[in-house]
Amino acid sequence: MNTAFYNNFYINAVTHHTYIHNIIYNTRSCFVDHRVWCRKNSYRPLPAAAAERTKMEKADSLVIDDRDSLEKKKTSIRNAGPQKLQVIADFDATLTRYWINGQRGQSSHGLLQQENPEYDDKRQKLYEYYHPLEFSPTISIEEKTKLMEEWWGKTHSLLIEGGLTYSAIKKSVSKATIAFREGVVELFEYLEERDVPVLIFSAGLADIIEEVLKQKLHRSFKNVKIVSNRMAFDTDGRLISFKGKTIHVLNKNEHALDMAAPIHDQSGDSNGLADDNASVKSRTNVLLLGDHIGDLGMSDGLNYENRIAVGFLNDNIEKSLASYQKAFDVVYLNDASMWGVLDIVSQLCSSRDD
Ligand SMILES: [Mg+2]
Repeated sequence: MNTAFYNNFYINAVTHHTYIHNIIYNTRSCFVDHRVWCRKNSYRPLPAAAAERTKMEKADSLVIDDRDSLEKKKTSIRNAGPQKLQVIADFDATLTRYWINGQRGQSSHGLLQQENPEYDDKRQKLYEYYHPLEFSPTISIEEKTKLMEEWWGKTHSLLIEGGLTYSAIKKSVSKATIAFREGVVELFEYLEERDVPVLIFSAGLADIIEEVLKQKLHRSFKNVKIVSNRMAFDTDGRLISFKGKTIHVLNKNEHALDMAAPIHDQSGDSNGLADDNASVKSRTNVLLLGDHIGDLGMSDGLNYENRIAVGFLNDNIEKSLASYQKAFDVVYLNDASMWGVLDIVSQLCSSRDD
């Protein structure tokens, strides 16, 4: 399928839906009998802009591979209570939208523009070399891990060498094509009210993610913690080093928790995070949100009892749907909103008597 065709039907949601229906109903007839195609309607109403939400829900399509297994997991998690729950989320194209006004949304790494554009070019060249290797089916995971460490190491060195400043980060974010999915704020608020921690695992840059949260959501959440690469700046606001171990696409998981710092430490909020890393790890029920099958590795390092994995399949739907529906408990298509996830969370956090 060519890019122009894809662009066209992403811009035109109706065409897209028709196309996806055709894929499912014409080529996977067994799929129809056992999978849920439309939203389940048995959920409790949540505080949200009702009309807008209804509109978004109608637009969202989801696939559930094994409904019984999902319901069992929901029941176990609900019975254990919100105090045993944590949410683990990828950032780019999971919390953020894949398409924005017909254009690809930028990633937290991709949006960054240094004052010295020569260094942007150098980083772009690294991307062009290493990105295909990241997705190569013929390179072993060990070799790939080495390559990713190499890529991240070189990129971080270029950021330091090129004299990146915090003001360049602020400016880059303000100019970036990046936006959160509808319902992300409501999801974070709902979880904050119930003291459920949200760990955002990203191989990107924590300082940029924080700036995106600040500029796009205009607030911080005491339950949200970013586990990503964190920068150290000198008194002039110039990048001098990176803190802790490099987090790349193949090692972003709960093993990396110990180097994370809560977002409010950076933004001057004096309220402490209710959970330290140890007590986060005692929360053995997980709702995991990702947009790549590799994101399932985010729960590595956590000895979880129940995990519900939600996948956002944003692109290459025809090619990837089969593997996504096997890997994730729920798959949202068509760059969906976060309202469906909020619905799942409200079911997980409702009391047994509801
Ligand atoms: Mg992602």
